[in-house]
Amino acid sequence: MKIKFWGTRGSIAKPGKATIKYGGNTPALEVTSDEGNKLFIDAGTGIHQPGNEIISTGKPEELNLLITHSHWDHIQGLPFFKPLYSENFKINIYVSRNESFNPEDIINMQFTSQFFPVNKDVLKANIKIIQLNEKMKFDIGEFTIETIAAHHSENTLGFKISNNNKYFVYLTDNEIYYETEEPTLHSIKSKNTDLIEFAKDADLLVHDCMFDFKDYVNKIGWGHSNNFSSVIFGAAANVKKIILFHFNPDYSDERLDEICENTKNFVKDKALDINFELSVEEKTYEI
Ligand SMILES: [Zn+2]
Ligand SMILES: [Zn+2]
Repeated sequence: MKIKFWGTRGSIAKPGKATIKYGGNTPALEVTSDEGNKLFIDAGTGIHQPGNEIISTGKPEELNLLITHSHWDHIQGLPFFKPLYSENFKINIYVSRNESFNPEDIINMQFTSQFFPVNKDVLKANIKIIQLNEKMKFDIGEFTIETIAAHHSENTLGFKISNNNKYFVYLTDNEIYYETEEPTLHSIKSKNTDLIEFAKDADLLVHDCMFDFKDYVNKIGWGHSNNFSSVIFGAAANVKKIILFHFNPDYSDERLDEICENTKNFVKDKALDINFELSVEEKTYEI
């Protein structure tokens, strides 16, 4: 299975000289199975480019898109995903069920005149919207998908995606809880048991790292994690590698390099058994 990052930034797209190395687009991942079929996760601004590439092949396809939640940074690229406008495509959009709003209305609202110049009639693809709950397990072709409720706003999902006995876990917009001033293995293990069980032994874990440890202190309860809690969580779940993701739009490449260094020192000081990297736009991992 191949996992390609098309957007690594949280909250708002941040193009410019300061974000060239790690990227400025908001979340979008392209997953390709060993058999060659694709699955997309989240439709942030990063989904624009793979949409263009798919369209340029001219081949009709069935595409599947999993959306963790409807915060803008995870859906803002959707109206600009060109396969939606082509009758050559069948597109299944998986979104989390919501008691307060019909998720289908949230998606459709993106194509109303208040948000977009033309309405939904211009979409020529065969689009199907499928609602998801937490704790589901289902197949999409050769992929098996499992869901979990993330520690974020209501109805945010995390995904576990398996293909040929390898699996990766996508937990962005997720706050690792701990009670101590500085995160500890003990505190994280006791406060995040459901998520640790879900991510256990993953070949790859993509995890929220919106803040560095110092900035997080002022953002407790905002539904995001910091670099220290993320790597401890990865170690607690015994994952083979954790990729830190969903960076604060205020962090430049320089700042993220610094965060990477601090995280390395933290892992060493605490003798954590974890392999970590910062996500980089357009980088592909194979598991
Ligand atoms: Zn987000
Ligand atoms: Zn969010």
